[in-house]
Amino acid sequence: MGTPVQLKDQSRDELEQLLIAWGQPPYRAAQLWHWMYRKSVRDFEEMTDLPVDLRRQLSQRARLDACWVRQRREDPVAGTVKYAMALSDGLVVEAVALRYRDGVTACLSSQAGCRMGCSFCASGKSWERQLTSGEIIDQFLRIGEDLGGRRSSRVVLMGTGEPLDNYEAVLQAVRRLHDGTGMSYRSFTISTCGLVPGILKLAAEQLPINLAVSLHAVDDALRQRLMPRAARLARVDRLVAACMVYAESSGRRVTFEYLLLDGVNDRVEDARRLADLAGRVRAHVNLIPFNAIPGSPYRRSPPGRVAAFGARLREAGVAFTVRRELGAGIDAACGQLRQRGSGSEADVGQRSQ
Ligand code: SAH
Repeated sequence: MGTPVQLKDQSRDELEQLLIAWGQPPYRAAQLWHWMYRKSVRDFEEMTDLPVDLRRQLSQRARLDACWVRQRREDPVAGTVKYAMALSDGLVVEAVALRYRDGVTACLSSQAGCRMGCSFCASGKSWERQLTSGEIIDQFLRIGEDLGGRRSSRVVLMGTGEPLDNYEAVLQAVRRLHDGTGMSYRSFTISTCGLVPGILKLAAEQLPINLAVSLHAVDDALRQRLMPRAARLARVDRLVAACMVYAESSGRRVTFEYLLLDGVNDRVEDARRLADLAGRVRAHVNLIPFNAIPGSPYRRSPPGRVAAFGARLREAGVAFTVRRELGAGIDAACGQLRQRGSGSEADVGQRSQ
């Protein structure tokens, strides 16, 4: 009978072809799609408008689940929830639900580990494999289920991994979530360390997906120290030019992420140059407090320096925010997501296969 088909890896057209090949009328695909993305059911038996025979065939030849919540930790103050999600081969990736007044943002992983090796980031310390589109999508659906059916209204690809290093799967996941749940493309943000060919490819899609670029340094020498692989692939000037192309074609304002590291990239001179680059792209700047990771030589910039840095951006007319910390208490803050084995924390939920 062969390996079961992972349904969340299939586009709607592919699902239709699959069901036609099984001798079903094409409208069955629409029904199945509805159960998967609108109702988020986990058992074919719940798909009550599908004939019993088809339900049986699906349970023998197809899979609905691509990840399972293995652990969850909730920050009692901010309400942020960090999930360890197990994949079908036993690997674990992390996803986070961030609660804001106007809705929940789901922060999803795009890879198990990361190949970029940025010196300040925990995720870059190991590499396992690419995630499939279904594994990315199912993190979103699992979060909704865990929050009692409350769907996240925004998705940020800012968990573990470099989304543009897994371009096809990430874009398929975004398209499928858009088609399946009805969320607008504007609700999605792809965060990249700056892979220029990927940015240009995404620009050519002409979709209003938000792009966040982890800049972190305004000159090539420092960027090479902080983000060796990303910096080797593109100079800051080329990266900024790609962001201009992206802003133009997507109609969206690009965000520059800028991690403030004490005595490393937080001088007034850095702020001045950052303001200049942001001005060229009309980018929004997001200043990120550094979250210490074990063994890291960096410290976060003191509040006075953050204020002075921000003041310089403000004088230059650059829109910026300082990222609020919603997950630091549960190791769910940026850069802290990394795989752990099935450690000592209590398991929640069950693998269903
Ligand atoms: N690879 C993508 C997305 C994942 S990282 C990217 O580079 O954008 C999401 C954000 O967290 C990036 O801006 C990243 O630079 C930042 N980050 C990584 N380590 C961090 C740390 N220790 N403290 C704060 N932010 C960190």
